[in-house]
Amino acid sequence: MPLIPSDIRALRDQGRLQISWGGETREISFVELRGQCECAHCVNEWTGERILDPASIPADITIEKMEQVGSYAIRIHWSDGHNAGLTTWERLREITDPN
Ligand SMILES: [Zn+2]
Repeated sequence: MPLIPSDIRALRDQGRLQISWGGETREISFVELRGQCECAHCVNEWTGERILDPASIPADITIEKMEQVGSYAIRIHWSDGHNAGLTTWERLREITDPN
């Protein structure tokens, strides 16, 4: 599988992010993806403990904007105002399921 996704789409009507690597397409729901954020607001940097309560994520959370960061990650601007986390391609592969 190529290291850099060939395509990333926010399927807002389905509430899912779809990522393609060459011929392989994977998906993850917005709620799940938001819950996987590893920034310092969501995970304790020292203990690795998750601070973000998954129950606090709005079920209708959506992606307002995505921007690529260098050649290795995206920054997602969520409808709950959160945008602190970077999601690397590697991390996206770990947390998504084959479609
Ligand atoms: Zn976060």
